[in-house]
Amino acid sequence: MENEAFAAPVPRALATEAVHAGREDLARLGVHAPPLDLSTTYPSYDAAGEAERIDEFAATGARLEGPPVYARLDNPTTARFETALARLEGTESAVAFASGMAALTAVLLARASQGLRHVVAVRPIYGCSDHLLSAGLLGTEVTWTDPAGIAAAIRPDTGLVMVETPANPTLAEVDLRAVRHACGAVPLLVDNTFATPVLQRPAEHGARIVLHSATKYLGGHGDVMGGVVACDEEFARTLRLVRFATGGILHPMAGYLLLRGLSTLPVRVRAASTTAADLACRLSADPRVARVHYPRVGGAMVSFEVYGDPHHVIAGVRLITPAVSLGSVDTLIQHPASISHRIVAEGDRRAAGVSDRLLRLSVGLEDVEDLWRDLTEALSAQPVRTRNGSARLSSPVAR
Ligand SMILES: *Cc1c(COP(=O)(O)O)cnc(C)c1O
Repeated sequence: MENEAFAAPVPRALATEAVHAGREDLARLGVHAPPLDLSTTYPSYDAAGEAERIDEFAATGARLEGPPVYARLDNPTTARFETALARLEGTESAVAFASGMAALTAVLLARASQGLRHVVAVRPIYGCSDHLLSAGLLGTEVTWTDPAGIAAAIRPDTGLVMVETPANPTLAEVDLRAVRHACGAVPLLVDNTFATPVLQRPAEHGARIVLHSATKYLGGHGDVMGGVVACDEEFARTLRLVRFATGGILHPMAGYLLLRGLSTLPVRVRAASTTAADLACRLSADPRVARVHYPRVGGAMVSFEVYGDPHHVIAGVRLITPAVSLGSVDTLIQHPASISHRIVAEGDRRAAGVSDRLLRLSVGLEDVEDLWRDLTEALSAQPVRTRNGSARLSSPVAR
C-alpha cells in the first residue's frame, strides 16, 4: 500500500535541502557519511547486458540504472552532488565537470554539435570565459553586447545567450527577466558562481542553463576544483554525452567534497555576506577609495577602485591573502587587470569597466574588525588624494 506522506513530499527550505539532498538513501544504507566510490571500472559477467546499457546511454544520454560500467560515464558519489545542486538551483538535473571552464566548454560543444556556434554575451564575465568565447578555440563566434542589444544580436545560428550576474569582477548586475525575454527561443546561460543559489536562482527567472565554478562557493574551502551545469534533463542528456566523449569529468573525491561543501553553503554565504556589506559601507566612506561596487543581490564579493596604486594594497595585506579565486572561508584579494582578467585584451577589459585601479575582495568568515584593520592598513600603504588634488603617501609600508 502506498504511503501518501511519501508520495507527496512537502517542499523543503534551501537550508534543509543543503544538508539532506543527495543523501536520502544513507540511513537505508546504514551509513551517515556518503560513501566515496573511487572505482574506475565496474565488474559485470553479463557483457550482452552491458552492451544494451551502453547503447541506451549513447542513444539518450540518460543516467544508467545500476553501476556506471566505466567512471567516465558516471560516478555515484559525484551523482549525489549533482542531485543536491539541482535541488538547490530548482532544476531537473545537473551535470558536474572537472572545472568551471570544463563545464562551459561542454555547454559550447553541446550547442556547436547542433550547428549553433554563435553566442551572444554581455561583458564583463570571468576573464577565462571571455577568452574561451573570443579566441574561437571551439569554433565559437561571439557577439558582445549590452543587455539592451541582446534581441538585435541574435541570429539564426545563435545557440546561447550568456550573462554573468553579479559579474566578475565589477559585480555589475543584469535584469534576468528582461534578458530572458530578449532571448526568445535561444537558451539563456547564467553564470551563478557569485550569487550562489542561496541569493539567486536564475532558473526561476527563465534561465535554461545555470553554470557554476564549483571551485568557488560550492566547495567553499579553496581545496577542490569543479564545475557544474544545472539545467533541464533534456539538455543534461546532451551534456552527459559530451562529457563521456571529451572526458572532462569531476573526480569522485571532488564530488564528495562538493557535496559536503553544499551542506554549509547557506550558512557560509549569509555570514560572509553580512561582513561584506559592512566592509562595503566602510570602504565607501573611506577617502582613499574612489568607488565601491556591491551588488543589490548582496553576496560576499566587494570590488573597489582606489585613488592610489592598487599594487601597494595587494602588497600591504597581512591577514587577507593576496590570491586569485574566491568563495573560500578565508578572505582573498586580487587585482583583476593583472590576474583574473589579464587574458582579456586591454581595450575590451577597460570598456567592460575593469579599471586598472579596481581590486576584487572575496570576503570570508573572519571577524569584520580584523578584516577592516588589515584593509585599512593596506590602504595606507598607497598614496591618498589630498584636498588640493596632489598625491601623497599617507604612511610607509612598515610592517
Ligand atoms: C572561476 C570562475 C569560472 C571558471 O571556473 P574554474 O573552476 O576556475 O574553471 C567561471 N566563472 C566564474 C564567474 C568564475 O569566477
